[in-house]
Amino acid sequence: MPDPRRPIHREYFATHLEAMSDGTRFPLDTLQTNHGGQPIVARYDLDAIRSRIPRDALRERPTTMWRYRELLPYADENAIVSLGENMSPLLDCHTLGNRLGVPKLRIKDESMLPTGSFKARGMAMAVTMAKALGVTHVGTPTAGNAGGALAAYAARAGMQCTVLMPADTPVVNQREAAWYGARAFVVDGLIHQCGAIVKEGADRGLWFDMSTMKEPYRLEGKKTMGLELADQLGWRLPDAIFYPTGGGTGLVGMHKAFHELRELGWLDPETPLPKLFACQASGCAPVVTAMEQGRDTAELVENATTAASGLRVPKPFADRMILQALRETDGRAIAASEERLRHWTGEAMRAEGVALCPEAGACLAAVETALAAGHIRPEDEIVVFNTGAAQKYVEFLETELPALHRANIDWNKLSS
Ligand SMILES: *Cc1c(COP(=O)(O)O)cnc(C)c1O
Repeated sequence: MPDPRRPIHREYFATHLEAMSDGTRFPLDTLQTNHGGQPIVARYDLDAIRSRIPRDALRERPTTMWRYRELLPYADENAIVSLGENMSPLLDCHTLGNRLGVPKLRIKDESMLPTGSFKARGMAMAVTMAKALGVTHVGTPTAGNAGGALAAYAARAGMQCTVLMPADTPVVNQREAAWYGARAFVVDGLIHQCGAIVKEGADRGLWFDMSTMKEPYRLEGKKTMGLELADQLGWRLPDAIFYPTGGGTGLVGMHKAFHELRELGWLDPETPLPKLFACQASGCAPVVTAMEQGRDTAELVENATTAASGLRVPKPFADRMILQALRETDGRAIAASEERLRHWTGEAMRAEGVALCPEAGACLAAVETALAAGHIRPEDEIVVFNTGAAQKYVEFLETELPALHRANIDWNKLSS
């Protein structure tokens, strides 16, 4: 088993793991889950990176998430479990932006990552580390894309995989996990109930628990969204980021990335961090409620429902970290109705040709709300994350069928 502390092909800057609850430190070469009911995060020797690696060194590297290797915890370049995690496009969306009233709108399109969602970033990193630490069987609850992504990376790594999902998980997500060779179980309940089963299985020694924020490395993989965004903007950041928040890994990961980049001096330490907007659906908005009530933690949402399955997380485990990131950046949490998220998903697909997922539709609806409320200005630079591919939401696409004509050609229709 390779020791992740020992640099094999390069300098290695990760130093230790740190518990968010009380600062307890753990060594990197041990398998860690969470501590004191809160996540554990990876830390780096940023001073050493600053003095040894110029930012421009990145220019020569391949355009994948692994180009930020100094800020990632893996040691052995040859032991990465990868399906080709290329940089995702940052698309100017003027047409859609004009419709929303924010012409400087960009969409960071994560739909092209392996398995069709940004979950690939987190799983590539976490499976790489789990494999290096000797794990042979991984398990996860999933509301949608996480199960498929874990199943795919586990297959790639030659590991066993067990996925538990609510019975109303989109059919593509259910099937893909099974097709990638995972044992896929459907549970009559919501994701936190699936999570409780995965935890018990881990306690029984059946598998390693890869739940969102319950091991430290998915966060590091998702952090690369923030590193990449800064890189693509020429080491600047936008005024505001709208991110569809379920478990909150992406939001917390980007926040961590921006702090690390500022401390490194790769970003100007004086530039303000972008306002982070956590976008949720009205049918499941625990973060919105917590912000409104001025709380530090989220309350469990009963009977959570929304077509944006990635947002159906009734109580995110990283709630404290999410709320802290929003408050620290003067951001907000905004809920979108099903009608508005559906509307903006369609608008984006028709106006820009982006394969938008309903979760990102909730973000566009939140942009509309934030602008009307004066939380953002029309001249602001806005980045919306499209976290998944439209193609994975068959049921959602079918609810409102655009006119599909039959093959008995009617030239009157075709000529008009
Ligand atoms: C998982 C998921 C989310 C929520 O992600 P977090 O970073 O855990 O908040 C959003 N959108 C899609 C498409 C997802 O699959």
